[in-house]
Amino acid sequence: MMEIKEIEELIKAVSKFPGLGPKSARRIILKLINNKDEIMKPTINALVNVYKNISRCNYCGVLKSSKDECNGFSNCSYLQKKFSKICVVENIADQWSIESTNIYNGYFHILGGTISGKIDKSQKLIIDSLVERVKKQNIDEVIVATSATVEGQTTAYYIEETLKDINVKISKLAQGLPVGGQIESLDDGTLFSAFKNRTQI
Ligand SMILES: [Zn+2]
Repeated sequence: MMEIKEIEELIKAVSKFPGLGPKSARRIILKLINNKDEIMKPTINALVNVYKNISRCNYCGVLKSSKDECNGFSNCSYLQKKFSKICVVENIADQWSIESTNIYNGYFHILGGTISGKIDKSQKLIIDSLVERVKKQNIDEVIVATSATVEGQTTAYYIEETLKDINVKISKLAQGLPVGGQIESLDDGTLFSAFKNRTQI
């Protein structure tokens, strides 16, 4: 095969996508090249729009479009809905997994990772705004849905401690989550029952 620099660069980039290797990357790129107007152009436009407009709200942690106001409590558009529960997860993939089970109807709070044991790392997690949300939004239950990993459980404990002086019910996903199991890698059935059978702390 003749090496074409532009194509090789694209293969290199696409190969980094999760679940794709160089072989499937080549197939995708060939499909794009053979369908420039029908597939490649709308893909480029969609990518540019996501690149330019989508970012993570630094208050609640959800992905938002720059068209939505989502900065701070007062105008965080995600907070306009009226729910009484907040589900705390590590990342957006976890949020999407829980949403796909249809068992939960409420706010999400996306921490952006876990506490790794070092105190300074927790500063980057958005935990302070979680406390503020619980206080200001009349929340009656905080569901801590962090992974069954050491880091996830340490983070859950830290959140419990942070919220313990606030009058709010705190619950955790039911036991039975495989140890080391990350929320996003659980099947819908397991996640559904872990959520349904959650226990109060
Ligand atoms: Zn927000």
